[in-house]
Amino acid sequence: MRNTGFYLSESCFWHTTGEAALTAPVGGWVQPMAAGGHAESPESKRRMRNLMDMSGLMKALDVCDAAPATAVETARIHTAGYLAEFKALSDGRGGMLGVSAPFGRGSFEIACQSAGLARDAVLGVLSGRHDTAYALTRPPGHHCLADQGMGFCLLSNIGIAIAAARAAGAAKRFFVLDWDVHHGNGTQAIFEDDPDVHTLSIHQANLFPTGYSGLEDRGVGDGAGANTNLPLPSGCGHDAYLYAIERVVLPLIQSFRPDIIIIANGLDASHVDPLGRMSCLSSTYAQMTSMIMAAADEHCGGRVVAIHEGGYSEAYVPFCGHRVVESLAGIQSDLVDPFLPKFLEQQPDAAQVAQQCAAIDTMAARLGL
Ligand SMILES: [Zn+2]
Repeated sequence: MRNTGFYLSESCFWHTTGEAALTAPVGGWVQPMAAGGHAESPESKRRMRNLMDMSGLMKALDVCDAAPATAVETARIHTAGYLAEFKALSDGRGGMLGVSAPFGRGSFEIACQSAGLARDAVLGVLSGRHDTAYALTRPPGHHCLADQGMGFCLLSNIGIAIAAARAAGAAKRFFVLDWDVHHGNGTQAIFEDDPDVHTLSIHQANLFPTGYSGLEDRGVGDGAGANTNLPLPSGCGHDAYLYAIERVVLPLIQSFRPDIIIIANGLDASHVDPLGRMSCLSSTYAQMTSMIMAAADEHCGGRVVAIHEGGYSEAYVPFCGHRVVESLAGIQSDLVDPFLPKFLEQQPDAAQVAQQCAAIDTMAARLGL
């Protein structure tokens, strides 16, 4: 069992993404739904926390809040113009900053709070306060660019956390593993010329944002080689994801030799996510996390932090997230995933898995692995 920090703040549940049906704002042909209706709602995150309370897992963790990210900390990553525009809109009635990045009044302060959770989780592990940590961040951060919000993301939580850790002299080399079903384009863009931050995004090809160059993006300038994308075909499930970890992720961690591994923990590659077409199970997330923990034990003193990103199935995110936290803490709880038997029956068949793994092999070869 490990000493695991769990960072959360009630204010993160109060961020609003406005009235929508899934991702379409209400109006015109879109009828308003009950309880806001936007896919990025607090409910999946609240239910994850509540399930952890009910299972007793929360009692085994060091539960922490955090101070919001400061103006100095956000300015290390984001442009002054972007931060000023975000603050002004947030002080008014809210608005939209980039593609699919809606927010309401007060979301600037809540986004700073979310980034503060990520920062303290990373610093908590690097300082030795915790062995591992989880930050239940909301709004998420991995699509956000230096000067533009995107895909429900308003500040780069992981970017701000890495910059804070560097400013504190706490670590030099960071490996960011992003298994959200969408491309971690924001984190990639922020660190694309940085040789000491390896960003690796495993995602469904051409889902969001569409039209980027994917496998060919290996970093820029001094950062060449320190960015990797693995754009998977839709329909990948438990076996293909574990194969991707074994075939691509572990060798990259081994060769990069990070001081810490940060997981951008999107849970929207799950079997029933409304915004993705993958088939991961709660057991997939448990095993992927355990594999990363084993690599971290070997290469970076077991230092792993998971930062919450996407995940839109209010029913299933809690079970997937619970398993990630259990694995970080080295605990096997009594929790039973009631969906698992049916979802197992619905996994891709052997021929499909063989095709998916062949696609991973082809990409791995092109990556020189
Ligand atoms: Zn996502």
